[in-house]
Amino acid sequence: MEKVDIKSMDITELQELLQELGEPKFRAKQLFDWLHAKQVDSFAEMTNLSKSLREKLGETAAINGVKIVRRLVSQIDGTRKYLFALSDGAIIESVLMKYEHGNTVCISTQVGCRMGCKFCASTLDGVERGLTAGEMLSQIYAIQKDCGERVHGTVLMGSGEPLDNYNNVVKFLHMVTDPAGMGISPRNISLSTCGLVPKIWTFMEDAPHVTLSISLHGVDDESRSRIMPVNRRYGLSQLIPAAKGYADKTGRRVVFEYALIAGQNASKEDAAKLAALLRGVNCHVNLIPLNPVKERGLAGISREKAHQFAGWLTERGISATVRREMGTDIEGACGQLRRRVLAEGKGGSLQ
Ligand code: SAH
Repeated sequence: MEKVDIKSMDITELQELLQELGEPKFRAKQLFDWLHAKQVDSFAEMTNLSKSLREKLGETAAINGVKIVRRLVSQIDGTRKYLFALSDGAIIESVLMKYEHGNTVCISTQVGCRMGCKFCASTLDGVERGLTAGEMLSQIYAIQKDCGERVHGTVLMGSGEPLDNYNNVVKFLHMVTDPAGMGISPRNISLSTCGLVPKIWTFMEDAPHVTLSISLHGVDDESRSRIMPVNRRYGLSQLIPAAKGYADKTGRRVVFEYALIAGQNASKEDAAKLAALLRGVNCHVNLIPLNPVKERGLAGISREKAHQFAGWLTERGISATVRREMGTDIEGACGQLRRRVLAEGKGGSLQ
């Protein structure tokens, strides 16, 4: 019999499991505390549970975590990139970013991605599967343990499209914000989506009110569809009202991510069109100088030009900044470390 994935269970599910094992419901809180506050990796460590319960749990449930396969630490700003192996051997990437206001972990939500954006390394081989809530939590727990410092925030901006793994991501958000576990404030969480419009509408009802980031990268349907296939399904006339809906419902400013690509979307005319598109939406534009991905043949622009683009937006009343680059000495764009290690056909050694 396959063991149940206990790290992905919320309190109600833990109560049901304990009842099935003939134990009182209140033990669910103790279990949740061991798994998500103390973050232990074995039932043996749960010393306030009886030995017989620990044994029963060991027979029926597994504590699936992530194992560090490789770790790269930036000498410039302390950013750490991690390659993790999941219990089925799949490999994912996560990043620890050290900001003045606290430590933030960028997590993956899927193994690979199926959205097909033309500039992104994560989607080159399609999607293998979505991560469980426990696997998303484990990335944060493992990094917190490894760096010995508390993690204050998380961004769902690693590999994968979070809203394409909807139920697990919503569950993860409820669990990671639960004060009985990590208790991360929704203010310190950002979810980034390529724009699955119907899911944006349900997300604002189902999940804690985190910051919503939308990957825009184009100023009209023609230019956006060229680099983001999802736009052919959900065009800007649907996406912008959903963004506005999220801002209105949650009272939180929506962030639009915009990767500047040479010759594609970075001219003064593009800035003017972008400002017109976003007028009336409570938002901020985060400009990202494109991280070139070898297989993609697209080029970025200089930081100077990115700042000029930001100026063109702010002149038109749209708040915009250029994203700070971190860990530039440890690896290129998102998803590239994973691809390099998979291509080398190994991943077993910790460096
Ligand atoms: N699937 C989600 C989250 C993952 S990507 C999404 O699409 O938003 C997180 C951000 O990195 C997105 O804005 C994505 O468009 C951007 N990104 C991906 N590849 C990039 C690259 N090579 N250079 C710059 N930004 C990139």
